[in-house]
Amino acid sequence: MQRRPAPASFRRKTLLAFELSGLALMAVCVVFFFSPPPWPIWGYGLVLGGCFVVFLLAFRWSAPPFKCPGCGRVLRRANRKGFDEGEPIRFVCKGCDIEWDTGFHVPDG
Ligand SMILES: [Zn+2]
Repeated sequence: MQRRPAPASFRRKTLLAFELSGLALMAVCVVFFFSPPPWPIWGYGLVLGGCFVVFLLAFRWSAPPFKCPGCGRVLRRANRKGFDEGEPIRFVCKGCDIEWDTGFHVPDG
């Protein structure tokens, strides 16, 4: 099996999705800070948890699927390699017998 770097457009789109998710997260925080106090202590935990969920959902929704640059097949989680912390994230296309290195790594912690 060959190993090749994924096209730069995939990295660009994924980073853009990440930034947009960050903006969604900031929007929620801004709404929170401008809403009238006082908040009960559990309210803060709820909002922080909510912010995190918003971020994950926004990212999942906006992140592009990985398409094999060779044959155009969409590669999903089942075709993914690299789930442990710090591991490089790769997608394997069985049709082309190529392992595409996204250049991303699984975040630590
Ligand atoms: Zn392919």
